[in-house]
Amino acid sequence: MVGKLKRLFMSKKFWKMYRTYLKSEAWQRKRRKVLIRDRYTCQKCGEKDRKLLQVHHKTYDRVFKESLSDLITLCKKCHKLEHNKRRRRRKKRKKKTTATSSGG
Ligand SMILES: [Zn+2]
Ligand SMILES: [Zn+2]
Repeated sequence: MVGKLKRLFMSKKFWKMYRTYLKSEAWQRKRRKVLIRDRYTCQKCGEKDRKLLQVHHKTYDRVFKESLSDLITLCKKCHKLEHNKRRRRRKKRKKKTTATSSGG
């Protein structure tokens, strides 16, 4: 990831740009290409309802200039799971082992 982009990434400004980008024609075209490549099918569970299909970034390394291999078709449900997974992984392990009180 380019230094400038890395700094920008995850900042409020980034998400504003990202949201604007998602509305852009360039993204819409790319998104459609991914959907066609994946045959309008969720790559996790096989859902084919187009209303539920979304395009997920496997990596944000080339965000705004993604290659199609950076993107994957997921349904709404799997997409949510994918993001939850990521969030959970990022969480720091604060507590080690708190002594379990015996009894109770
Ligand atoms: Zn799915
Ligand atoms: Zn996603």
